[in-house]
This record gives sequence, C-alpha cells and structure tokens, in this order.
Amino acid sequence: MVRKAASVTTVGALLFAAGLLIHAQRLPTLVVPEHYTLHLTPNLTTETFQGEVSIAVRVVQPTDRITLNAAEITFVDTTIESGGRVQRATVSIDGGQETATLSVPEAVTAGPATIKIRYTGVLNRQLRGFYLSSANDRKYAVTQMEPTDARRAFPCFDEPALKATFDITATIDAHDTAISNGRLVSDTPELSGTHTLKFSTSPKMSTYLVALAVGDWVCVSGGADGVPIRICGTPDRKDQLGFALQAAEFTMRYFNRYFSIKYPFQKLDILGVPDFSAGAMENAGAIFFRERLLLVDEATASNANREQVANVINHEMAHQWFGDLVTMQWWDDIWLNEGFATWMERKPVQEWHPDWNPQLDEVRDTQSAMNTDAMDSTRPIRTPVESPDEINQIFDAIAYQKTGAVVRMVEAYVGPENYRTAINAYLKKFAYGNATGEGYWTTIAQATGKPVDGILASFITQKSMPLVTVKRSCVGDTTKLALSQKPISSAVPASTTWQIPVCFKRQRNGKVEPDACAVLSKAEDTVTLDGCSPWVFANASSAGYYRTAYDTAALEALGGALKTGALTPVEQASLIEDVWALVRINEQNLAQFFDLTAQIAKAQLTPAITNATTRVNYVSDHLIDAAQRPAFERWVRDAFGPVAAKLGPLPQPQESDERKQIRAAVLYTLGYAGRDDDVLKEARRRVDMMLGNAGRIDPSLEAGYLQLAAINGDAALYDKYTEQLKRANQSRQYQFRGALTYFSDPVLQTRTMEYALSPDIKSQDLPYVLAGLILRPWSAHNAWEFVKTNWSAIENRLGVFQGLPSVVESTTSFCDTASRDDVRRFFDQHHIRAIDRQIRQSIEAIDRCIDTRTQQQKNLSVYLR
Ligand SMILES: [Zn+2]
Repeated sequence: MVRKAASVTTVGALLFAAGLLIHAQRLPTLVVPEHYTLHLTPNLTTETFQGEVSIAVRVVQPTDRITLNAAEITFVDTTIESGGRVQRATVSIDGGQETATLSVPEAVTAGPATIKIRYTGVLNRQLRGFYLSSANDRKYAVTQMEPTDARRAFPCFDEPALKATFDITATIDAHDTAISNGRLVSDTPELSGTHTLKFSTSPKMSTYLVALAVGDWVCVSGGADGVPIRICGTPDRKDQLGFALQAAEFTMRYFNRYFSIKYPFQKLDILGVPDFSAGAMENAGAIFFRERLLLVDEATASNANREQVANVINHEMAHQWFGDLVTMQWWDDIWLNEGFATWMERKPVQEWHPDWNPQLDEVRDTQSAMNTDAMDSTRPIRTPVESPDEINQIFDAIAYQKTGAVVRMVEAYVGPENYRTAINAYLKKFAYGNATGEGYWTTIAQATGKPVDGILASFITQKSMPLVTVKRSCVGDTTKLALSQKPISSAVPASTTWQIPVCFKRQRNGKVEPDACAVLSKAEDTVTLDGCSPWVFANASSAGYYRTAYDTAALEALGGALKTGALTPVEQASLIEDVWALVRINEQNLAQFFDLTAQIAKAQLTPAITNATTRVNYVSDHLIDAAQRPAFERWVRDAFGPVAAKLGPLPQPQESDERKQIRAAVLYTLGYAGRDDDVLKEARRRVDMMLGNAGRIDPSLEAGYLQLAAINGDAALYDKYTEQLKRANQSRQYQFRGALTYFSDPVLQTRTMEYALSPDIKSQDLPYVLAGLILRPWSAHNAWEFVKTNWSAIENRLGVFQGLPSVVESTTSFCDTASRDDVRRFFDQHHIRAIDRQIRQSIEAIDRCIDTRTQQQKNLSVYLR
C-alpha cells in the first residue's frame, strides 16, 4: 500500500505489553482454507450487496465448530459439507473479535470440507471492505481489504498466512463493468438488466489482496513482455491515463529483468478510484489508486507530478513480487512488504529518468525516517501487533522509509549485483508462500556470503538508531579515525549498539576517494586509512542509516571540501540534515546550521539547497520570535537572494528539472520565510495574470506562487481560487485547495474551515484542508478550535486508517506549552485507541519543538544580532 500523506507519521512505544493477550485475535488453526468461490451482487441503489461464498478447506482434526472472520455481515444460510454429508450450521457472531463461529450438530471429520455461506452486507462509506464511492452523479462499488477488511466483504480466514486460490464472480448492472484480480473469462447477460462477469482463478494469495471494482470504468490498453496492461478510471479521466501506461510498461520490463521470476499474475489492471483511503493498493493483478496519484494531464503537469505517479506505480508493481507473491507471515513483518516496495520504487526511475534525481528522493526518505526514529516514541521495525487497531497503526515511516533505508544500506555494503542475486534467492524460496524476518535475513546472509544477518537483525529488532561520532587525526601518512556510537534517542538504553556499515569518503594525494568501509559493531573503535586526508566524510553516497557528528574543526574542513565539489548532492544533503538533526537534540548550535546553509547556497547550485530551505521554513514557523524576525528575514534574503539571481526568475527552454526544483524552493523560501517583497509581488502578479487568462505559470512554480499570493491575499483572490476549484482539472484543483489554507485573513480562514466540512469536499481530501490550516502559524489556533468544536462531525467522516491521524499529526505545528496541554487534554477526553500512537507522537513533537526553541534562543539572538 502507499500511504496517502507525504508527511511522516510516527509511532508510539511498544504496542503490546501484556503477553497474555498475544494471539488473542488470531483464528484457531484447526481449519486451513484452500479455495474460495466468491459471488458478489452489489446493488448501488440500495447501497447493499448480496454474497455467496464457498470455501474449500482442509480440516486438521475433527471439530464441531469452525471460526472464521466476519464483520458487519448478515449470515442468511450456512452449511458445512464433509464426508458426503451436509449439515446446516448455527452462527454466533463476536463483534469485538470480528469473528463468526459456525457450529454443527456432528463433528466434521478431518480432511476436505466445504463451507457455504449466503449473506448480505452494506456498501459502507468508510472506504474499507466493499464500499461506496461516487463521482459524476453516480455511485461505484469498490474494495479495499488491507489490512483486515476483507472480512467486511465476505466471511473468510482473514490472515495473511492463510493463502488460497480464488474464483471471483460479480453480477452487476448491464451498463457497468467490473475489474478483479483475474482475467475476465465470461460475460453472461441475466434477466432484469444485469450481467454476470466471471474472472479466472487466481494464484494462491492472501485475502487482503482480493479486489473488485464495479462501475462505468474506461481503460487505455497496452502491455509489456506479453503481459496485458490496462490503466482505467471513470469516463471523464480517460485522457489522463496515458502517462501511467507508459510508466507501467517500462516498469514491467524492468522488474521482469531484475527479478528471477516473471510477473506472477495473468494481467495487470491499474484503476483510479474517485474515493480511496490510502494512496494506492497492490491487489494482485488489480492495483487500485487514489486518482490524484495516477492521473497526469500532459498539458499542465509538472515533472515532480509525473515522478510521483511513476514512483507510486513502481511501488505497487514491486509489491506484486514483494507482498503478493511472497507475503509476510504476520503483520509484525509488514516491513518485508512495505520496506521493499519503498526501496524498489526508485530503481526503474533511475533507469527511465535519471534526470529526475531519484537518489536525492531516496535520501529525503531516509531523512524523514531518521527524524521519526530520533523520537522517544519510535518503535522497532518489527513490532508485535495483534488487533486490527494495532495493525492499522504500523503502516508508518518506520515500516516504509526506515526499512527502505536499511535495505539500501545493506545493498550498498554488499554491492548491488550481489544483493540482487540474494533477493532473487529469497523470492524463489518463498514464492506463493509466506516469509518471516528471520527467513529473509538468513537467506540474504547465505546468498551474499556476508554477515549481513547481524546488521539487519540489529536495525530491525532494535528501536531508534545510532549517532556515530567521528574524530579525525593524521598520524604520519595515515588518517586515524576514532569512531563511537550511541543511540540518538534517550529512550533507548545507552549501552545499545548496532552493527553499522560505515563507509568513508576522503582525499588522498589530492584526489577524492570513496569506498573505504568498516563495520562498527562496538561502542568505540578506530579505523586507519592510507594517506593523510584533510577531511573525512563518514557516510559515502549517503547510504548509511545513522547520523554523523563531527567536531567544529572537522565540520569546517568539510565546508572546504564542499567548495571544491568533493561531495555529491546527496552527500551535501545528508550533511545538512545531520547538522539539523543535532540542532534538534541540542547537540549542535543553530548558528552552525545557518553557516553551513549559507556556505552551500554560496558554493554551487546544488539540489541540497532544497533540504536547507525546508528546515529554514521550519525555523521561520517555530523558532523565531517577533524581535528576531526582521534580522532573520534579512538573513534569509542574504543567503538565498544570490541563488535566485543566479537562476533567474523563469525556467529557460531545455532547463533541467533539478534547476527548476532549486528555483521553486528558493523563491518559495524567500517569499515565505524571508518575506521578500519582490518575490511576493511577483507571485501575486503571475497569479493574477494566470487567473485573468493572460498567461500561465510554469508548472514547477505554480503551486508555490499560488501559496505565496494567498498569504496576503484578499477576498477577491480567494473567490477566484474557489472558482478554479470548480473548473480546473483534478491535479490543479489540489493546488488551489492547498493554497486556500495559506490565506492569513481570519475571515477567509473561517470560510476555508466551513468549506472543509461542506459536502463540496470528499472525505479523502478533507484531512488535508484542516491539517493545512493547523500547520500555518497564523491560522493554527483558529483551526484547532474549529476542529475541537466540530470533532464529532470530523470523526464521523474520517477513518482511523489515514484520515484522523493526518489531522492529529498537524498539531505537531504547535510549539508552546499551553497548546500542548490543550491538545493532550482534548485527546484524553476524546480518546481513540486506533490512533493513540499518533497522539502520543504529536505531543512529543510539540515538546521537542519547545525544547529546541528554549535551547537555541540564545544562539539565535547572538547569531542574528
Ligand atoms: Zn506498499
């Protein structure tokens, strides 16, 4: 799955303390499912569905009761057949456990048996199970099963290890079509204006990968390596599906080459759904998407937009191997799915569009994971989970980005080809079955011939991450490095160590040399390198999952290396982020971060500047008080003004994406944090021209200009934005909707809040509007009051999987004790178990901010004097 938010969700402490409850929500192991025959008949008018499921099972030992999963389903008729005898079963429902127990008068014998159930259900509006979506004045019926909602669509053994084959059939309105996991094998007209579509038998797969979507879908068709590929959506979206098809075809060929096993399903359909809770979902052979992450309007899309679409397609396609073919045994190993899909998603882009700089995005992902992991409320990659509430909460930055980063570190350490061979050995070993973390790292260690099992186990089972301190000295013609490690989070015992592959870049005989690597497994160690190097960078290629601390002299020496271009953009980016991370834990002076930022901005046009601008915007929002603001704004203009001048105000023909991205970030920060009058005026002028149909804004600058113009925007501008919400194509609607949250005029803020709860906005988009308002310092308090007042309405519309956590996460924008106490009090009174980790994490983030602000206040005043 792809989480919908770009922002990072963090997580709480260990989920489970009480060992007694372990396995409380697992099914008994007496019965093993082998094949499902599932027939669904949705009625879009009554918003209900009828279902018939026949489950061929193997009974392990005689029993007179069989328990399976079911939720919000009404059983009509249930029988169990075994040994040639059919018995009617009585059904007892346990709503809390989401199970149904089928009891028969006489024990079912060991061996094959068949459970047949006729039932009815409701097409819900919570975007889970078999649910209702709507667009263009009509309704659609769509499934989203992961993690534990297949049981809402059909009674089943809803655990990932209980894989089976599926025959799926749907009876639907004669004018509609359906998309499912298998190929369409027959289409039979029925009486009463319906037809029945039957799909081919699936390979063995988990219940959470079952898919069905019913509606007037239209598709564009292609294929690669003999696999038919279709990209589908509602009829009005047909002209925006072409880019996704190109991307999917490229990636199909890439993955077929990369993996030893050819694409394991018979065809691939990718469908954009009008209402979708996650970002996208890897149903076997039938990937479903949030439209925003799939559609590309070739005329107006920015390349960042295209890259995002390609990344998500690649992520979901990687899951067809990592997740669908080889599935984790239980949800505690969800990282085996999500971490690998996150790691793989940039590989095809690296070959298809190296100009999009995917390595830099990987480093950004790593940074976001490390920032989460530095918090006391972080969790280990592998965390015990049992109940759906707990399972829902581990689809987070730790499962995705941290695992992706750890895998990347190991890949860099053993070499990409060696690692690819090992990955293929792992896939072959567990194909159509299930794997555990141990199964993975044992296989990888054997196949690579390197002791990576120890490295992986230390990063996967221990929470948080190491801070590696490097002290350099020259002894004769050698460089001596004294290395030490300690946990970055104070919530982890100080004696904790990791097995860390540390790779160095340094200068020898006037030449820059990378690739000297050592595994640091003790708390302290020394490494000797040939030649005396004036500087050492201790995270070559930024492949490591650790923070690095240098002393002031070493940092100055690295500043010198920066000027000579000795560090690559990804290395510059991680250097900036390391210094920032140390500022956040008060082990570094904010002045040092400012100096490094100014040095990098001055030295060259590097994409690492965009890492610095993000942090500078944070400083502007949270750390600067009123007295410091004029001097701070001046510093921003001095640091970034020359970069903007070098780039020029508009992209030149044939300009690289990298240059466009740097310009967009620098102009935004000049306007947002530096309140640069020229930039703000230019943004407004360009926006007025565009809205008056007198010219367009380059796609790379449009979102930023719309936001900057809104800050001081009046009601007339606001009206024009809302007008565009009705007319613009979908991706631009998101830009206008996002920009609505930037208006500082309180009257206009109120209008945005009212809009957020109106029927004009889909539930899937609502959290971003509220979160956007809370994230802006000038609207945070009003918006938070509004959220509190309207909490029950918000709670009714948003699910606990992604919607509510996004709203809760936005409270991390507060940076004062009164707000923190208020947030805490509110969620004490409105406790929701399914999002409690997000709540704890938000409170900690506010505390961190208060702490940084207090600690760095003096440094700031001295620096900005
Ligand atoms: Zn995923």
